[in-house]
Amino acid sequence: MPLKDIQERMKVAAQSAGRKVDDIRLIAVSKVQPNERVESVLEEGHRVFGENRVQEAASKWPDFCERYDNIDLHLIGPLQSNKVRQAMELANAIHTLDRPKLAKTIVRIAQETGNCPELFIQVNTGEEPQKAGIAPKETDQFVAECRGLNLPIVGLMCIPPIDEEPSLHFALLAKIAERNGLTGLSMGMSSDFERAIALGATHIRVGSAIFGERVPT
Ligand SMILES: *Cc1c(COP(=O)(O)O)cnc(C)c1O
Repeated sequence: MPLKDIQERMKVAAQSAGRKVDDIRLIAVSKVQPNERVESVLEEGHRVFGENRVQEAASKWPDFCERYDNIDLHLIGPLQSNKVRQAMELANAIHTLDRPKLAKTIVRIAQETGNCPELFIQVNTGEEPQKAGIAPKETDQFVAECRGLNLPIVGLMCIPPIDEEPSLHFALLAKIAERNGLTGLSMGMSSDFERAIALGATHIRVGSAIFGERVPT
């Protein structure tokens, strides 16, 4: 679907929620997409992108960043401790802070380099054992702990269970964010971003609806 159609759908969803579309950032999730597709979205003027894997991001974005100004790269996939330094060099934002050890590693590297991306805490709203993220009932404490470390926490992120109505999860995430005084909400993907916007999403992560189905590797 052309980028402008997604932007139009965002506008309609924002309007019906009484929100301004400018308050919602569209992260074009380019993981596993051929470079030509990414390039054509860059040519259309879009600058906000998301990647899942540090290694994949490192293989394509330094080159794009040389050729296009003001790229805003968001890391939205699980982050291993041994990839944190590279992730912090590449990304403007990391959406998957999900454990105390990772928080401490980020602090150490930020102190060393004087640089830290914006951070979202991933919340496992469905409490799925196989999924990353802090449990909803432990999130308040983890937010406090991260603030105690002076980390730049800007919001919360979730990936709802595939077989449940996502709106319940978006609403839960919004509630936890609000009671913690956090304004950023990273939620909503190709199939549900309008519902996420209705519930306050500030960052939607849309891949296949923009780029087409992911090409299997
Ligand atoms: C792949 C991915 C997306 C985008 O998914 P689509 O359904 O293609 O829009 C969003 N968020 C995360 C965390 C992802 O891994």
